[in-house]
Amino acid sequence: MIYQNSLDSARWLDSKDPLASMRERFCHPVIKGKPVLYFTGNSLGLQPKAVKDHIETELTEWANWGVEGHFHSKNPWYSYHELLTPASARLVGGKAHEVVCMNSLTTNLHLLFVSFYRPTATRFKILCEGKAFPSDRYLLETQVQFHGLRPEEAIIEIFPRDGEHCLRQEDIEAAIREHGDELALLFLGGVNYFTGQWFDLAALTAVAHEVGAFAGFDLAHAVGNLPMALHEWQVDFAAWCSYKYLNASAGNVGGVFIHERHGLDPDTFRFGGWWGHDKENRFKMESGFSPILGAEGWQLSNAPVLGMAALKASLELFDEAGMAALRAKSLALTGYLEFVFNDVVEQFPGIGLEIITPADPAQRGCQLSVRLKGTDRRLFDALTEAGVIADFREPDVIRLAPVPLYNSFEDIYRFGVVLTSVLRQLEVAA
Ligand SMILES: *Cc1c(COP(=O)(O)O)cnc(C)c1O
Repeated sequence: MIYQNSLDSARWLDSKDPLASMRERFCHPVIKGKPVLYFTGNSLGLQPKAVKDHIETELTEWANWGVEGHFHSKNPWYSYHELLTPASARLVGGKAHEVVCMNSLTTNLHLLFVSFYRPTATRFKILCEGKAFPSDRYLLETQVQFHGLRPEEAIIEIFPRDGEHCLRQEDIEAAIREHGDELALLFLGGVNYFTGQWFDLAALTAVAHEVGAFAGFDLAHAVGNLPMALHEWQVDFAAWCSYKYLNASAGNVGGVFIHERHGLDPDTFRFGGWWGHDKENRFKMESGFSPILGAEGWQLSNAPVLGMAALKASLELFDEAGMAALRAKSLALTGYLEFVFNDVVEQFPGIGLEIITPADPAQRGCQLSVRLKGTDRRLFDALTEAGVIADFREPDVIRLAPVPLYNSFEDIYRFGVVLTSVLRQLEVAA
């Protein structure tokens, strides 16, 4: 695609964007009296305007029905979570019985490890990316200790080569093969939260299976960002949260995928709760846990309906737009950000800024991570002050995620204008 760093060009791209009108379906923050440029959908997505109605519906039903709402309200709460399944399954490319929305991300990962991390004396290692998201590191550390093992021996971290920021697919594959018979589990962020690198999950899963290990992924930064086909890719399990690209509000309910070859097997061990128990006999309250076949059999508790109402509103927008169209726009939008960013930064050779996300669009979603080489946090603070909402990750990275559902090409052009003026000030101050 041929880009130009100009307002006309940005507006022309917006005029050709079939998803442009989606922007109006979201609430756009106005901070200190100024509309902001919002590039933090990878951390907390914006609020779909429809959320309010969806939540209000459930509040009204609760007011009118009380406990009878479990079966008699418009969307009976007894089976409310089922309303989220088809759209969630489409997002990750799973069959409906392979997906369920429940709990939250780290909680779900611990529950999935109950099923998929069952170390033996000889096969006990977990391979993961170096500098994984802290919650994932604590998950791995405590899971390993729970089984009486030492993290130093059981957790194998893979790091980029010297002078590089991202992992090479061939290096991950080589590490899987190196630990071969000792490897119990490959566990990676599908998209790395820090660099924005997107891995070839199908290829990694195939290599993990070759050596006899399971492959599971944390899709916090992948879901709603990239089209996926987890069923076809033979992924064993995955989990995600709904407040990043899925725009379902802070801390809202997460989702899991469990491949049917495990999920339909009642002998796959999992922790039990009444919501995972056979629906026919749930209210008989007898002893003897008999799980629902499929991912629903991993549920523990009855579903938090108010939060799920927000997720439902957002998932309807994903269905309306379609992941293929979102990805097509995302490629163009992130490509435009990369172009505008480089165009601006070239004018300031004294200030070293570099994008550490892979330049190959096939290895990234919408996020670009920028490393501040020659400057410090001042650049980030000045951007915030000027109305750019991005995020800073220690020690020296700014993450920018233009989201195809609600960001425009004009947002990117305007970001370039702000960046130019901030860099000019820093240059003068230096
Ligand atoms: C956002 C994120 C989390 C957050 O976990 P919660 O349990 O939802 O608080 C975990 N892991 C990764 C990789 C994330 O990006």
